[in-house]
Amino acid sequence: MTSPATDAAGAPDLPEYAPVPAIAKGAPLNEHGYHVWQVERNLYAVTDNVYMSAFLTTPDGVVIFDAPPNIGHNIRRAVDEVTAANGLTNQVTHMVYSHHHADHQGASSLFGGDIVRIGHEETRRLLLRDNDPARPVPDVTFSDRYTLEVGGERVDLAWHGPNHSPDNIYIHFPGHDTLMFIDVVNAGWIPIYNLNLSDDVIGYTGAPAIALDYPWTHLISGHLGRVATREDVAMHQQYIADIEASSREALASVNPGPIFKHYGENVWAAVRAHLDAVTEHAAAPVIAKYTGVLGGADIEIFTWTTTFAIMQSIRLDHGPSGPVHP
Ligand SMILES: [Zn+2]
Repeated sequence: MTSPATDAAGAPDLPEYAPVPAIAKGAPLNEHGYHVWQVERNLYAVTDNVYMSAFLTTPDGVVIFDAPPNIGHNIRRAVDEVTAANGLTNQVTHMVYSHHHADHQGASSLFGGDIVRIGHEETRRLLLRDNDPARPVPDVTFSDRYTLEVGGERVDLAWHGPNHSPDNIYIHFPGHDTLMFIDVVNAGWIPIYNLNLSDDVIGYTGAPAIALDYPWTHLISGHLGRVATREDVAMHQQYIADIEASSREALASVNPGPIFKHYGENVWAAVRAHLDAVTEHAAAPVIAKYTGVLGGADIEIFTWTTTFAIMQSIRLDHGPSGPVHP
């Protein structure tokens, strides 16, 4: 056996990419590895430049919105830092779950059993299924809408259908000019693999328009180092729209005939070659357009896998899946 190639420092031989554009840069982190800042009044966001969560400080207690294990104990440090500076209680009384995924809720058990946990009814069902002690099941659930009132503040939770996950909700802070909506739009970056690891292509691609229907200036989107603006959402929508247009063009222009003729009875080999050719043809102009514009755009597999998912949704959800045999 040969060992994998390594560089002089012993790190694996990793690919290099274009410098990260300014729009994608995060915040300087403190000695614990986090950055916390005031989004609006008593609403704060905390990031490690990969994950982001939020909390509301009130005279009656702190409400936490998501607890990514990547930030972990730094959520408590950030709450303590902010509440001490403002002379408010640091007692966490409520936790709101945006959706059930462990990478956003896996530190929620750190805040103990004596708090009110709120989530969509599907979040509860999925967490009962997952049976993960790190993610206690929410006791307060809702199907369409729920209004949380704590310490004179109001938060409106709403479910508008499946998108990134079946249970991903919109968390609106009407008194803070802010929307929290996780794992759909990344501020200054393209989505990672497969539309940010999303279950429902049509739900995912339609979700930014629903988010923009709310009044807000700040969007807490769950990842990376800064909150998103409405312009970030528009840029994300344009990236997705470009992939959709390019996929339609590629489906119409890549001719599967010669590929199927070449492979004969090995029809799966032909299917693979045809779909890969459509994906690469569709993704190439998008990768070229966004490299240097959005972070991660030159990591080709992200746009390839997102393009593949959108191209398949165009075939299977919208149709036609292909020409009708004469
Ligand atoms: Zn997720």
